[in-house]
Amino acid sequence: MYALLSVYDKTGLLDLAKALDKQGIKLLGSGGTARMIREAGIPIADVSSITGAPEILGGRVKTLHPAVHGGILARDIPSDEKDLLAQQIEKIDIVVCNLYPFRETVAKPAVTIAEAVEEIDIGGVTLLRAAAKNHARVTILCDPADYPSFLNKLSSKTLTQEDRNAYALKAFQSTASYDEAISDYFRKQYAAGENQLTLRYGANPHQAPAQAFMTDGPLPFKVLCGAPGYINLLDALNSWPLVKELRENLGLPAAASFKHVSPAGVAVGLPLSDIEKQVYFVADIENMTPLAAAYARARGADRMSSFGDFIALSDKVDAITARIISREVSDGIIAPGYDEDALAILKKKKGGRYCILQMNEDYVPPLLETRQVYGVSLQHRRDDAKIDKSIFQKVVSKNKDLTDAALIDFVVATTALKYTQSNSVCYAKNGMVIGLGAGQQSRIHCNRLAGDKADNWWLRHHPKVLAFDFKPTAKRPEKSNAIDLYVLGAVPESGREREQWESVFNTVPEFLTAEERKEFHAQLKDVICASDAFFPFPDNVYRCAQSGVKFVAAPGGSVMDKAVRETADEFNMVFAELPIRLFHH
Ligand code: 5GP
Repeated sequence: MYALLSVYDKTGLLDLAKALDKQGIKLLGSGGTARMIREAGIPIADVSSITGAPEILGGRVKTLHPAVHGGILARDIPSDEKDLLAQQIEKIDIVVCNLYPFRETVAKPAVTIAEAVEEIDIGGVTLLRAAAKNHARVTILCDPADYPSFLNKLSSKTLTQEDRNAYALKAFQSTASYDEAISDYFRKQYAAGENQLTLRYGANPHQAPAQAFMTDGPLPFKVLCGAPGYINLLDALNSWPLVKELRENLGLPAAASFKHVSPAGVAVGLPLSDIEKQVYFVADIENMTPLAAAYARARGADRMSSFGDFIALSDKVDAITARIISREVSDGIIAPGYDEDALAILKKKKGGRYCILQMNEDYVPPLLETRQVYGVSLQHRRDDAKIDKSIFQKVVSKNKDLTDAALIDFVVATTALKYTQSNSVCYAKNGMVIGLGAGQQSRIHCNRLAGDKADNWWLRHHPKVLAFDFKPTAKRPEKSNAIDLYVLGAVPESGREREQWESVFNTVPEFLTAEERKEFHAQLKDVICASDAFFPFPDNVYRCAQSGVKFVAAPGGSVMDKAVRETADEFNMVFAELPIRLFHH
């Protein structure tokens, strides 16, 4: 019986060699490994004694030889036995191998490519793969931590096929991770900016290093300006598919305004009324394009949340859309292309550091999606569910009068939910999200958040708000903030905050009376509400009813489904049962 030993990390090597020798196993070793064992007084032959070839090229070729690999790969079958006999090759039953420390070498500062190249183990990887491939017969040890238990089993003759299977798996994983380290290094050397992007830090400044990379080709986006951060990319890569799918499924230009990996606003490019233009701060924009309308709506839905947004647009960006963006505080944008004048406008933002990404429209991500959390890899099929009008056809309420406008809003809201941190509930109207509750652990809290935002959005259309007489010096965020406090009824009676609030107006507005609020609120109608999972209790329907919801889309599956639908019937709502749940994390 032969064992071949070729290890860089010589931990536990002498104990192992001694024990193998004691068992009557003949030892073969590569240069340094054999020398160390021999110097300890344990008999071992050099690999070159069976190959008849010396180590050459300064150690680049040590064990790469048919005498070695034939001995490892041979099966217990007559044709293999015959080949071995003809070549006078002995079978090798145990291979002990670990690799040059590539990862550690490239982690050292200022390492050169030549130095890194020398640390790429060739023969060792071949030994590991060959022995692991032939694990039906051969035992492969790639981790010194396994030596003691292996020796116990060997001496007690309890080594099983299961043990060889487990060692083989470990060897395959070690070569895979070794190759991963090599590709990671060369990606950074040879394809930085294309297949790989070094990021300043991860989710937080103390989380460095950080990078984005592809394992099989170029990144699907190009950085046209600025340097995207980790969260920018999370936003970009969640918001892009959202607008792309809306574009595909509704045939309308779409926009999303993202913050912290959930949309603050999402819309398709339906034309804006004059009032809407005013509410969304775009009354002065002429020749509004459908794409510009989509972004004006997405940005206007929840201006407080959209402050510093990451924008996704489904279509090539035109100058009008760029102009709207140029006046808002925003972190970055992803779109399939930019008109020259639009790009010039956007490049001026943030002192030339505005993050502009150009997405490859044809990119299709792999079906399986993998990520690591706390060192554990989680893998699942990407959520490739198609959200088009067809999934809202199962109407389970008495009222079956689903309008086309409601269907568009259903698609907008449900696509938004698909890319919103769960739990999520979304209210929509006029082809846009008007209230989104994201990331709440309770559905009703989510629903209240969404409903309250929808109420807030609606009150911003009140004539008293539209008549606000702001000072010309008031900045857009100051106006948004002043409107928000006003419609929420949260302006303090006195003090610093009150003074600040008043300071943005030429004429300080009169507050809305409870009666005025009620009367205006009652005019909010034909709203749709979509939910990423079932309503567990009818309280959700009650909440919807308070904000003019006429159409609801939610999956079924709750023990309370019947009660939920009966409640929807009480309000004469149209309730569409969604065939899919849309949790997103
Ligand atoms: P030693 O210290 O025995 O001279 O070298 C052991 C190291 O050489 C192990 O890390 C093993 O993976 C690696 N090795 C074994 N055979 C070859 C070969 O043919 N070429 C190269 N480049 N490395 C090898």
